[in-house]
Amino acid sequence: MISIVIPAYNESKTLENNVKEIVKYIQSFEHEVILIDDGSKDTTWDVIVKLAKENPAIKGIKFSRNFGKEAALLAGLAESKGDAVIPMDADLQDSPKDISQMMQKWQEGYKVVECVSKKRPKESFFHKLCAGGFYHTLKKLTKIDMANARDFRLMDRQVVDEILKLEDRNLFFKGMANYVGFKKTTILVDTDERKVDVSKFTLKTLTHLALNAITSFSTAPLKLPVTFGIISFLLAIIMLVLSLGGYSCAVTMNQVLWIGTIGMLMISFVLFSLGVMGFYIGKMYEQVKGRPRYIIEERV
Ligand code: UDP
Ligand code: MG
Repeated sequence: MISIVIPAYNESKTLENNVKEIVKYIQSFEHEVILIDDGSKDTTWDVIVKLAKENPAIKGIKFSRNFGKEAALLAGLAESKGDAVIPMDADLQDSPKDISQMMQKWQEGYKVVECVSKKRPKESFFHKLCAGGFYHTLKKLTKIDMANARDFRLMDRQVVDEILKLEDRNLFFKGMANYVGFKKTTILVDTDERKVDVSKFTLKTLTHLALNAITSFSTAPLKLPVTFGIISFLLAIIMLVLSLGGYSCAVTMNQVLWIGTIGMLMISFVLFSLGVMGFYIGKMYEQVKGRPRYIIEERV
């Protein structure tokens, strides 16, 4: 059986048609569709109730308030019973016609089939710039390349179970899905534009998500003070050499240099100490997250 997981936030205008469209493409497989109402303020839940009444393969979950797409996805995974699970957007930006290709790859033995957009859907220059910068930073810090990858992906049951075991409180679905590993392949897909309505993400929620993703998957920022400490220490050395060499003939100028050197040295010590604390806090953070130390795929 396959499970399709669809988070929906204020999608009442299009949800019914879109879900019916998706169901058309999965008729040939044994399936279930899990719809998560992420605290919508419109009639999304009524639509879900109606759909669930009409079709026993459709299940609905309603959040008490808006917890965000990542939480909705996880709730869907937790609820799913399928041997393979595919999260999809409610706006049909992910095309259900790709599902058969994903299933084929799954039958070939891949446990994760990730969809990568041939090109990012039409977005403003500003959005492209921010997304580009974000994924670049994320790749540098976490060594995981997630640009253009979508939440739209097929995951084997084993992968889903491992994702559900992660005890992260700050959620970044793509990061978690990458973290657990397993044999993966990617397929190139067309990503449509949202036809009706606007994106449900605002600049604020996206910024929050980006900061969350970076801080959930990297402790590198905590260690930044060490770099700054080294820079100011080098500066202090240069200033020390200058003052020792009596670089400036003016006596007062030399005194200022001495005071500056001492100040700079102090600053470098403080930054260094902060960085050292960062290392320990980073370790505590990793420990608190309680992620598994390793994940076993199979045994013989
Ligand atoms: N979504 C959600 N909770 C939110 C925001 C979005 O469940 O707080 C859902 C939304 O209903 C849709 C999917 O996440 O199914 C992607 O949202 P959208 O299409 O607005 O985002 P974009 O395509 O711009 O990334
Ligand atoms: Mg969309």
